[in-house]
Parts: sequence; structure tokens; C-alpha cells
Amino acid sequence: MKLKIAVLGGDGIGPEVTHEATEVLRTVAELGGHEFTFAEGLIGGVAITAHGTPLPTATMDLALDSDAVFLGAVGDSRYGSLPPESRPEAGLLNIRQALGGYANLRPSVAYPELAANSPLRPEVTKGVDILFVRELLGGLYFGAPRWWNREGGPEGDGEAINTMRYTKAEVVRVARVAFELAAKRSKKVTSVDKANVLEVSQLWRATVTEVAKDFPQVTLEHQLVDSMAMHLMNIPRNFDVVLTENLFGDILSDEAAVITGSLGMLPSATIGGKVNLYEPVHGSAPDIAGTGKANPLGAILTAAMILRHSAGLDAEAALVEAAVAKVLAEGYRTADLARASESAAQPVVSTKEMGKLVRQALTEATDRQQSLHAV
Ligand code: NAD
Repeated sequence: MKLKIAVLGGDGIGPEVTHEATEVLRTVAELGGHEFTFAEGLIGGVAITAHGTPLPTATMDLALDSDAVFLGAVGDSRYGSLPPESRPEAGLLNIRQALGGYANLRPSVAYPELAANSPLRPEVTKGVDILFVRELLGGLYFGAPRWWNREGGPEGDGEAINTMRYTKAEVVRVARVAFELAAKRSKKVTSVDKANVLEVSQLWRATVTEVAKDFPQVTLEHQLVDSMAMHLMNIPRNFDVVLTENLFGDILSDEAAVITGSLGMLPSATIGGKVNLYEPVHGSAPDIAGTGKANPLGAILTAAMILRHSAGLDAEAALVEAAVAKVLAEGYRTADLARASESAAQPVVSTKEMGKLVRQALTEATDRQQSLHAV
């Protein structure tokens, strides 16, 4: 398998965590005889420093010429006083838009070893493995008209409008992604809407129901977004693939993040566009950049998503995820995961040490598999 990966480390802890994750991908390539190539590009504050723009043309060309884009994080307070379109974050928004991915995938997994890190009780989070499929290019965030008239409205003291709009085709394409993924998992899609109030949601529900007919092996259920917000905290185990429009997905996927227990553990992928874009969910964490305290597991789990969604290497992706779980089970923690009450049993390790431990676990698991095959 050949894969060309553009690595855009970005700012703060971005380069530190993407380095560990690309090392994991190199290990996967070595162990499985795959040919992965990595080419680095600049984005965010580091790109402003070097080229005066948060998304240089060379970075965009590199991204478009790759099979997958692996982005660390952007954000540098030194550039906070620039106008919004020139700030580091503009690089991220622009590349997301240029690559055109419409389906944002955000897993929310409960690792038993981190159960005490979640504010939810362990018996609630036990066994949770949800995959959010959030529509990313439509809805309220992009709909027109949109404006804020400070002197508008009946009292002349302000009026604003945003538009929630979807076409049937936009719903069909993201719904198909959700059903295709569900078919490979527990074969259940929960579609979230507000069809009791919003016409947009009525279109959403009718369209998703129609798409479901092409996937008879997958069960479809509909949930209203308000009750879904509650169910996610009460009975998260009931959900497998959760399909949402843009705004609802933004809110619910962050809500479900508390199940995992740390921002540093969360991966994401945006698929369906010209090139898939992969990013850990966290930002550039300037408060810990350069200290070796960054948790690379979100980035490493993002690398597993590259294997699954861009390389078609599902077994290898599962091995990386299992290696992460094993290292956690052995007690190793980065500072964000460590709990004072359990410090004796939980050695606190650096970003680099955590990366190395995952690679070791991966190599051992692969060796074990190969010797089993040889028997
Ligand atoms: P953040 O995610 O960078 O950090 C929030 C908190 O979580 C911090 O205390 C940080 O130390 C901790 N944290 C985050 N990732 C961690 C990791 N891997 N390991 C250990 N601890 C981790 O969010 P913020 O502080 O609100 O934003 C900082 C900068 O990042 C801002 O410039 C913001 O615009 C940017 N940002 C970028 C992205 C992105 O690139 N996708 C996302 C969010 C924020």
C-alpha cells in the first residue's frame, strides 16, 4: 500500500504530537511492508512567521497533491491582534474549505483505564464507542442570508439573522457516509434533528429515512436533538453511529467528549472532499508547548483514522488503537491523564516516551500475530 501524507504540524504542541503520530505510521509501514511518504508544510502562526500568510500556496499545493493531510493544531497569541482573515486560525478554516470535506468523523470512546477521568460514572461510560458523523459544509454556519444590523429591529437597537439551509443532495451524501460506516460497525445509525419544529429537520429526517432503504442491514433511529443531549449523558452505550447536521454535531460531539475524559485523547477526520483531512481535536495548547507534557494519543488515534479511512488498512488501524489501549492499561499516563490519587501505579511519561511506548506495543502485537500465523 502506498500513501502520500502531507504533515502540517502547525503551532504549539502541533508539531510535537504529529511527530509521534507519524513515527507510529512509519512503524506500521515497516511492519506491514507499506510505502508511506511524508512531506511537511507550514500552516498557522509558523507560516505567518515564514511567509506572512497562515496558508501559503505551497502548503495548499502540497495538500492537494497528497492522499491525506495530517494537521497538528494552529493558534499563536502573538498574531492575535491581526484581522481575523490573517490570523493563524484562518489557515485552518481556509484549508478545511479548500479541501471540501463534508463529513466530519469524531469518535468518542470510553477507555476503561481512563474511566475515573470522566465526570460520568464508570457504569455509564463502560463500553461506549460512538462515532459522530457531522455534516460540515451546510446548515447555520454557511447559510445565507446572514447579517447583524446594529441599528435594525423594531426598537432600532439591533437585529441579526442566520439561515439554516440544507438541500436534499447535501443530506444524502453525508447520510450515505454514516450508513456505510455503520455497516462496518454495530449496524445502527441514530439521526439527530429537531423535526418537531424545523422544516430543515423535516427534510433531513425524510431524506435520511430514504437513504436508509439502501442499507437494510443497518437499523435507523431518529432522535430529537434536545433529548439526544440528555441520552448521551444517561445511556451513551445505546449509540453507535450518530448522524447530525452541522450545528447539532458541533455541540453534541463536544458534549460526548467528556466520555473519554481528556481533550488530548480525541481524534477526528474530515472526509468526502478532494483530500481527507485528519486532525486531533485539541488546539495548539500554548501553555504546555515545548514542555514535553503534550498527550500525543489524540494525534496517534488520528493516525489510526488515516489508516482506516485513507489507506483502507482497517486491521492496522485497529492494531494502533489496541496499542494505545494496552499502554493505558499498563498504567502509563501523560500529565493531562495522571490522577494524583493513583500516582504510584501510573508513571507519568513525556510526549516522546508515550509515542515510543505505543510503537513498542504495536511492534509486540504484530510480532505476536506473525508468530501465531507461523504456527
Ligand atoms: P487547546 O485545545 O489548545 O487547550 C485547552 C487546554 O487543554 C489547555 O490547558 C491545554 O494545555 C490542554 N490540552 C490541549 N491539548 C492537549 C494535549 N494533547 N495534551 C495535554 N493537554 C492538552 O485550546 P485553547 O487553549 O482554547 O486554544 C489555544 C490555541 O489553539 C488558540 O489559539 C486556539 O485558537 C487554537 N485552537 C486550535 C484548534 C485547532 O487547531 N483545531 C482547536 C482549538 C483551539
